[in-house]
Amino acid sequence: MLTLRQLFLANNAQTTNFPLLLEFERAEGVYMYDAEGKAFIDLISGIGVSNTGHRHPKVIGALKDQLDKYLHLMVYGEYVQTPQVKFAEKLVSLLPQNLESVYFVSSGAEAVEGAIKLAKRYSGRANVLACKNSYHGSTQGALSVMGNEEYKQTYRPLLPGVGFIEFNNMANLQLIGDDTACIIVETIQGEAGIRVPDVEWMQALRARCNETGTLLILDEIQAGMGRTGKLWAFEHFGIEPDILLLAKALGGGMPLGAFISSNEIMGALKDNPILGHITTFGGHPVCCAGGLASLEVLLDEQLIETVPQKEALLRDLLVHPAIKQVRGKGLMLAVELENFDLNKKIIDRCIANGVITDWFLHCSNSMRLAPPLMITEEQIRGACAVILEAIGFYTD
Ligand code: PLP
Repeated sequence: MLTLRQLFLANNAQTTNFPLLLEFERAEGVYMYDAEGKAFIDLISGIGVSNTGHRHPKVIGALKDQLDKYLHLMVYGEYVQTPQVKFAEKLVSLLPQNLESVYFVSSGAEAVEGAIKLAKRYSGRANVLACKNSYHGSTQGALSVMGNEEYKQTYRPLLPGVGFIEFNNMANLQLIGDDTACIIVETIQGEAGIRVPDVEWMQALRARCNETGTLLILDEIQAGMGRTGKLWAFEHFGIEPDILLLAKALGGGMPLGAFISSNEIMGALKDNPILGHITTFGGHPVCCAGGLASLEVLLDEQLIETVPQKEALLRDLLVHPAIKQVRGKGLMLAVELENFDLNKKIIDRCIANGVITDWFLHCSNSMRLAPPLMITEEQIRGACAVILEAIGFYTD
C-alpha cells in the first residue's frame, strides 16, 4: 500500500520538484501537529492567512452554525445571504467612506482580476501600471501585473497595455498618465521580501493618481487584516485607495477575497454589459461567516494593538552578525541573510527543530516571519532561540 506521501506525489499535481512534504494532522492556535504529535510553531501563518491563529474556537463556532443553515445557494450577487451582508456591513463600517461596496470573490488573484476589469470599465482606459518586483497572484491578469520576468516569460502573450514603475521611486510616478486606467500597488510589498515604501512616496502616488484620474488599487491581500499593526496597511501612509484588495486572512482560514470600492465605481459592473463580473462561489456563505468571526476576534481580543510590541521583541532578539537586516512592519517581517543557500539551510534546520518559516518568491536570501497575531512573547522567544541556534550552527 502506498503511503500518503507517495500518493501525494503520484496523484496531486506538483508545483516544484522539491515540495516540503511535511504532513500535519491538526492545527490549533500558533501550532501545527504531525502524526506523532510533534508541535511546529507556525511563523508564516500559511503565508499570511491565519492572523487569528489556526481554528480559533469562535471561527469554528461560526462555521458550524452556518453549516447547519445553508452552503452554496446561488452565484454571487443575486440572493440576499446573511453572512455576506453582515460581513460586508462590518468591513464597510471599518473602512473610509469611499470604500463602501464589497465584491466578494474566492481568492486574491480573483480580487486582482476583478479590480483591473473594474478600473478599465469605469475609466474607459486600457492601460494598467504595476510595480517592479510585485506579486499579485498567478492567473493570467495577475501574472501580467507581476513585476518579475522569470515567472512570466514562458506564459506570454499576457495582457497588453501593462507597464511597470519602480516601487518607491518618485521620478517614475510621472509614468502615470491621462491614459492610465489604474495602478496596482501592494501597500507593503510582500514577495519582494517585505519592502515598506516611504510615506512621501505613497502620498505622491495618491496625488499623481488624482491629477491624472487614475484609479489607485492597493493590494492588501498580504498586508491587510491587522498584520502590520493597523487594521489596514494604508493607514500607515495617510492615504486611501480607490479600490482595496483583500484575501488571505480575510476568510479566517477559509477561501475568500474581496475588491472594495465606492458605489459609483462598482456600479460600472452593472450594465453595458450587465453582470460585468461573475463568480459562482465568491462570498461563499460559510467563508463569509468564518471571515466575520475572525475579524471580530481580531478586534475583540485587541490583537492588532499587540503587534508593535511583538515586532519590537522580534527585532530585539534577532540580532546576529549573519543577519544583515530585519525589514518590514508589524508581524510582516523579512530577515535578510547572505544568500539563498545559507537561508535555505537555516530554514530547513528551523523546520526540523519545530519552527516553520520560508523564503520569498522574489527574494530568496530572506526568511519570512509572519506568525499569527496571537503569538505570545514567550512563544516568540522560543522560536527566536531556534532561529538563532540554526544561524549559529551554519555561521559561527
Ligand atoms: N496579492 C498579494 C500581495 C499576495 O501576496 C498574493 C498571494 O500570495 C496574491 C495577491 C494572490 O492571492 P491568491 O494566492 O489567493 O490568489
